[in-house]
Amino acid sequence: MRLLIMGPPGAGKGTQAALIAAHFGIPSISTGEIFRSNVQRQTELGQVVDQIMRSGGLVPDDVTIQIVADRLAEPDTKPGFLLDGCPRTMAQAEALDGILEKLGTPLDTVLALVVDPDLLVARMMKRAEIEHRADDNEETIRERFAVYREATAPLLALYRERDQLTEVDGFGDIDVVNRRILEALAAFA
Ligand code: ADP
Repeated sequence: MRLLIMGPPGAGKGTQAALIAAHFGIPSISTGEIFRSNVQRQTELGQVVDQIMRSGGLVPDDVTIQIVADRLAEPDTKPGFLLDGCPRTMAQAEALDGILEKLGTPLDTVLALVVDPDLLVARMMKRAEIEHRADDNEETIRERFAVYREATAPLLALYRERDQLTEVDGFGDIDVVNRRILEALAAFA
């Protein structure tokens, strides 16, 4: 199983990604997690992305694309992978097409979590209290939504046109949403 998970900030992508990956025995690859781990370890990459993430902006495409290309070339992706948080821009989507073509690993589907925007801010503020993520404050959250609307949401139309989009209602308890997702993905397993 090779898939992307998409959805607005706070839609529960990370939580569902972990459950889906465990179900199919594939790695869940989150660009946000990779960047956060580099910030924590104060690597060179971490120093580049720290301020960008704090502001809610996007890490430059070339940096992100290189990270994803390297990660997808790792042997643990042989049985498949779930990519979370990339592509976020049209340039990333095009680059990802090239990477997957070169690897000979086309996507089975693009899973989109559909959630009412009004619920998202509240969810993210709650997460901020629990996880203390540096980019979960009101101003950054607002910026991340704006970036999502402008740069990332248009990608859904691209995958829909290609007939690759699987949309799932992301409203509800974690296990309810997960059941919906696994039912939808059964068509591709
Ligand atoms: P969320 O899903 O809650 O928006 P992520 O963990 O996916 O959070 O991403 C956190 C931050 O990491 C983003 O706001 C952005 O700064 C950076 N980031 C993650 N993935 C990408 C990407 N594909 N391109 C550019 N920046 C990214």
